[in-house]
Amino acid sequence: MIRPLKLAIIGGGPSGFYLASRLLSLFPQSYADSLRIHIFDRLWAPHGLVRYGVAPDHPEVKNCTHKFDSAVTDSRLKFFGNVDITSIGDNTSLSLSSLKKNYTHLVFATGCTEPNMHPQLPRDKGIISALDIVHWYTRHPSNPAPPPLHSANHVSIIGMGNVSLDVARMLLCPPSLLEKYDVPSHVLDALRKSQVKHVSVVGRRGPLEAAFTTKELREMINLPDVALRPLEESVSNIQPRTRQQSRTLELLRKGSRAAFGTTLRTWSLDFYRNPLGVTLPNSDSTSYSLSLEHTTVDPITRRSGPLLDSGVPVTSTLPTSLIVTAMGFHAESSSTAPYAQWYDLDQKHIKTLPGGRVSTTNLDSDEPKIYASGWAATGAKGVLASTMMDAYSVAEAILEDWTNLTPSSDPHSEPVSSSPWDAPPPEIMKSLSSPDSEITTYKDWLAIDAEEVRRASTEGKERERMDWKEAKRFLYDKGLRVSEEVRS
Ligand SMILES: Cc1cc2nc3c(=O)[nH]c(=O)nc-3n(C[C@H](O)[C@H](O)[C@H](O)COP(=O)(O)OP(=O)(O)OC[C@H]3O[C@@H](n4cnc5c(N)ncnc54)[C@H](O)[C@@H]3O)c2cc1C
Repeated sequence: MIRPLKLAIIGGGPSGFYLASRLLSLFPQSYADSLRIHIFDRLWAPHGLVRYGVAPDHPEVKNCTHKFDSAVTDSRLKFFGNVDITSIGDNTSLSLSSLKKNYTHLVFATGCTEPNMHPQLPRDKGIISALDIVHWYTRHPSNPAPPPLHSANHVSIIGMGNVSLDVARMLLCPPSLLEKYDVPSHVLDALRKSQVKHVSVVGRRGPLEAAFTTKELREMINLPDVALRPLEESVSNIQPRTRQQSRTLELLRKGSRAAFGTTLRTWSLDFYRNPLGVTLPNSDSTSYSLSLEHTTVDPITRRSGPLLDSGVPVTSTLPTSLIVTAMGFHAESSSTAPYAQWYDLDQKHIKTLPGGRVSTTNLDSDEPKIYASGWAATGAKGVLASTMMDAYSVAEAILEDWTNLTPSSDPHSEPVSSSPWDAPPPEIMKSLSSPDSEITTYKDWLAIDAEEVRRASTEGKERERMDWKEAKRFLYDKGLRVSEEVRS
């Protein structure tokens, strides 16, 4: 008798969907009906950072969702949105133990959803994380306060990765160029009223160590009507060691199309600066005063340390109206995270073995086999292509483990059939049977997706995003609440 492979994937970001699509395509045809995959996401909409992270002016990056749409046409794969999985489970969440009772295999594809904060920069009205801005311009369900762009003329972004440049580009790009993209109307309005004149991107190391890619740098350099402050000579003269570094330095030396001083908006890359602290606005000053240590990079270790002048650390202050920290992300560390027991406190993500294996349970035990994939397992590094490759390798490990406990000499065994073995957990079934269910299915999502595109099309815009309240109203108004499909 073939043991079914009933997999719960916790997290409906690209990692979860890539893994599901790979497993569906690799699964032996002769046992096709022994596979079921249920993806759960705490957000109502699928696709994780592809919807709620990727910058609006990078629409081509989001094309991976076509693959996810196509995977869901296979009836063995189902998506359940608005389902938060926690270690305990309560009125608003589903417990890990319920998943363990109902599935043979579990995958954490929960990403790295928390921003790293700078230890010297306390949170304040004008000290926010890049994720707050990203969530604002993508209309994330966390609904963060809008950044105070109407009163900020100088923005300092701490960190030099692609997310820093995404945020800088959104703040400096002429709003008229963003109108055709997937930027919510209220965000466009705020960008039109923005007073931002200069963005300083601050990094503690130099151009050879900066984490942003040439593509993102080129986009910043080519922004119309925005000028890059020319590099200091000492930075400009640095010798590159790799082809990638040569390209970066070449771009930086050439500078922006518009000459510095001829545009209303400017930006700078403030290399070799490390924030030491900040003075908050007070009766003497309406701006923040960022205290910066000047640094130098060890040529061997590439680590930064304080720059000394006659043995004294060199420092400066940068007056600024808004401080945005863009220093990477980590997996949630709370004790209610469903993977809390496998959390690596040093690495700040789930500890895994090769193939994304989390538990080392004996393959033949009845305990579910547990895996982690994507940023939850690797930490917040790499792009969609690397997330995809990682998800594929986890899918292959799952299949390998399943094959090892399936008698391969028995190709004619009857596949496990008929409900309820393939149903989602009873809590989900119960919720779906209520007309007020908050749970979304992929069919719900496809209807909302089409409606978001339709609403924007008259304005020549890519999409007008809905929040969950609007989306839910739309589903009911149109009689499209398709949870019935699962109920019946
Ligand atoms: C701001 C930003 C911009 C980016 N832009 C690009 C780009 O332009 N190009 C590119 O190639 N890459 C880009 N990346 C990288 C890319 O987004 C990641 O490689 C990829 O999203 C990682 O996928 P993931 O599925 O591991 O995590 P995520 O995309 O974060 O998905 C994780 C999902 O798990 C869900 N979840 C978490 N906890 C729970 C829980 N307890 N219960 C239920 N669900 C849960 C979350 O809601 C989320 O939907 C960007 C990243 C960021 C942060």
